[in-house]
Amino acid sequence: MKPVYKRVLLKISGQSMAGEEGFGIDTTHIRQTADRLFEVSEAGVELGVVCGGGNIIRGIAAASEGLDRAAADYMGMLASVMNALALQDALEKCGATTRVLSALEIKEVAEPHIRRRAVRHLEKGRIVIFAAGTGNPFFTTDTGAALRAMEVGAEVLLKGTRVDGVYDSDPEKFPSAKKYDQVTYREFLHRNLGVMDGTAISLCQDNKLPIVIFNMETPGNILRVVQGESIGTTVGA
Ligand code: UDP
Repeated sequence: MKPVYKRVLLKISGQSMAGEEGFGIDTTHIRQTADRLFEVSEAGVELGVVCGGGNIIRGIAAASEGLDRAAADYMGMLASVMNALALQDALEKCGATTRVLSALEIKEVAEPHIRRRAVRHLEKGRIVIFAAGTGNPFFTTDTGAALRAMEVGAEVLLKGTRVDGVYDSDPEKFPSAKKYDQVTYREFLHRNLGVMDGTAISLCQDNKLPIVIFNMETPGNILRVVQGESIGTTVGA
């Protein structure tokens, strides 16, 4: 089936880098994630990826244990750089051509984030991995993903998670939770539905960027989404 998108931005959380215990870097799991991303790129879709860092450190959680919030957030951004490098390695082992662009300058390991350069890489069919979120503390990589999606002109923001979409309550705690196939930005924010942070949703709302939230652990799902199958939850106007 032909893809319905030319250029997409995929947000993957740090969890996609971790094993069963949800912490650290698990090379087997990353390899699986990389295989699924490579499939999408091979289908001819220009693919940007934003990596989270929550498998290593989350600013809010570390701050609640006494670390300075801004310092903890910078550590979280650096964690996302580590994930980006691990993902780059796994993708290149699949045969993909990739570039890591970092919002924090670490020129020995990644290119600085320059919008026009990112677009050029995408046009050439390279998978662009955006690291270090927005480069600012007090944000999340969800917001970084919304920002990068807009900057590079992605047609959709894809958010891969461990659940099948957006529910009215946590499906891992409440088996009767109801899944939304579609939800508006406004309702998402009003009901405080979680899964994706409010700043990211607002940014997409202001710029009319559709979001698809879906289960990335199911093999083939990313490809199905880019081929236009309606899986997960679509957030839009
Ligand atoms: N972070 C930040 N600014 C950003 C992006 C991330 O300060 O623009 C920090 C923040 O502390 C966050 C951590 O990096 O908790 C890891 O990112 P995130 O929680 O978004 O990762 P995920 O939950 O997707 O694995």
